[in-house]
Amino acid sequence: MSLQEKYEAVIGLEVHAQLATLSKLFCGDSTAFGAEPNTQVSPITLGHPGTLPKTNQKAVEYAIKMGLACHCEIEQYNYFARKNYFYPDLPKGYQISQHTTPICKGGYVTIHTSTGSKDVQLNRIHLEEDAGKSIHDLDENNTCIDLNRAGTPLIEIVTEPDMHSAEEAWHYVTEIRKLVQWLGICDGNMEEGSLRCDANISVRLRGTTTLGTKVEVKNLNSIRNVKKAIEFEIERIVQLLEKGEAVKQQTRSFDASNDTTFAIRDKEEANDYRYFPDPDLAPFHLTETFIAGIKESLPELPAELEARLIATYGLNAYDAGQLCDSIPTAQYFEVVAKHTNHYKAIANWILGPIRQYLNEQQKDFTALTLKPASLSALIELVQSSKVSFSVASSKLLPLLLEKDVDPLQLATDMNLIMVNDGNLLEQWVEEAITAMPDKVTEYKKGKKGLIGLFVGEVKKRSKGQADPKLVTVLLEQKLNQ
Ligand code: ADP
Ligand code: MG
Repeated sequence: MSLQEKYEAVIGLEVHAQLATLSKLFCGDSTAFGAEPNTQVSPITLGHPGTLPKTNQKAVEYAIKMGLACHCEIEQYNYFARKNYFYPDLPKGYQISQHTTPICKGGYVTIHTSTGSKDVQLNRIHLEEDAGKSIHDLDENNTCIDLNRAGTPLIEIVTEPDMHSAEEAWHYVTEIRKLVQWLGICDGNMEEGSLRCDANISVRLRGTTTLGTKVEVKNLNSIRNVKKAIEFEIERIVQLLEKGEAVKQQTRSFDASNDTTFAIRDKEEANDYRYFPDPDLAPFHLTETFIAGIKESLPELPAELEARLIATYGLNAYDAGQLCDSIPTAQYFEVVAKHTNHYKAIANWILGPIRQYLNEQQKDFTALTLKPASLSALIELVQSSKVSFSVASSKLLPLLLEKDVDPLQLATDMNLIMVNDGNLLEQWVEEAITAMPDKVTEYKKGKKGLIGLFVGEVKKRSKGQADPKLVTVLLEQKLNQ
C-alpha cells in the first residue's frame, strides 16, 4: 500500500481579508495602503483612556455580503469582544474581535478541482480588527513598528477541517480571492497582505475519523505558498508517523526561499485570551430588513452568471467558468455579444489572444482599451473569410490593442484582405502546380501530406492574401484529376 493510500491529510484554512472600507473598523483613520508609517494612527486606534470606538457600518455590510455569497446564516444579535494578549504591534493590549457571535455561521464555498466539484464547509466568518505591522528587516538592531494597519477591518473566514489535499486548498483560496474581489469588499492583493491565509494541517490513517494532531502554518501570503506549505507539511507529518514519532502541535512559518516550514512555537494548550464583551461598544442588532437590503445589493454571483452564460449564449462550462474569472471579463463578453452572435468566437478571442496580451502586460481586464465594437468587427472579418484567424490575431489585434482604428480599414490598408476571387486563386494554384512537377508526381503516388507544401506555395505567390481554405479545396480538385 502506498503512503498516499495509507494516510489522509485533513486541512482547515483561516483566511483574513482586509475590508476595502475607507476608514478603520472603529474610527475614522484612513486605511490606505503605503502611507508614511504611523501617520494614520489616532488616539482611538491606540486605545488611549477617554477614547470611544464606534462601529463602521460599511464593514458590517461587507461581512454580511461575504456571508450571503457563501450561503451562511447571518447572526442578528452581535457584540464585539476583547481578545486580550500582549504583542508589540497590538497597541491596546487587546484585539477587538467577535467571540461567541460570529456575524456569519456555517455556509460553504464551491470549488472545482481535477476530480470534480465540492462544497467546502465553513465554520464561520467573523469581524475583527487588524494589528499593526512589525518590520524586522529595516534596522539591524531594532524592530520597527508601523501602526497604520492597526484597526483596519478584517473578516476571518474559517473552514471546517474539510479539505484533503494541497490542490483543494489552492482552489479554495483562489475561489475566496475571486469572491471578495467580485463583491468589491477586498482587493484580494496577497502581496500587500490584504488577503492572508493560515493553514491547519493534520494527517490520519485513511478510513479513521478522529482528527490527528494539527500544525498551523501562519501568514501565507500567496496562493502558491499555501499549496507549497501544505505539501511540505503533509510529507513531513507522514514521515513522522511512519517512524512512529509523535506529531507536536505547533505553530509554524513558511520559508519561501526553499519551500519548507519551520517551528515558531509549540502550542501545548489553548491560549487564554480572557475574552469579554467590549464595554465601550454596544451590542448591535441586524434587522431582517437591513439584511434583505444587502442581499438585494449583491451582484449576480459567479455561479449564477456562469449558468446564465451557458443558457443564453450556448457556451460550454469551461469557457463560461473562465469568463467569470472577474466581473469586468464577463461584462466585456456580454457587451461584445450585443454586436455579434458568434459567441464561441468571442469567448475564444477573450480567453486566447486578449488574455495572453493582458498577462504579458501584467494588466487586468479593466485596463483593456479595445472597444467591444472593434472586437466584434474583427470577429466578423474572420467569420466572413476576409481575414484568416492567424492573420487577425497576429497582425491586426496587436495594433488594435494599442490604437482605436476600424479593423476593416486597417486590414485593407495593410493589404491583408484575403483574395477569394476564383479566377485569381485558380491562377496561383496553376502556377504552384506547374512550379513543382516532381511533387505533383509524388502526391499522385499517395503522398497526400504534400498538400501543405502546395498551399504554402500559393500563399507565397499571393503574398499571404489567398484564402487558405479555398486554396486547399482548389488544389485538391486539380491534383486529384
Ligand atoms: P485554534 O483554536 O487552534 O485556532 P480552531 O478549532 O479554531 O483551532 O480551528 C482553526 C482551524 O483549524 C479551522 O479551520 C479548523 O477547521 C482547523 N482544524 C481544527 N482541527 C484540525 C485538525 N485536527 N486538522 C486540520 N485542521 C484542523
Ligand atoms: Mg487559529
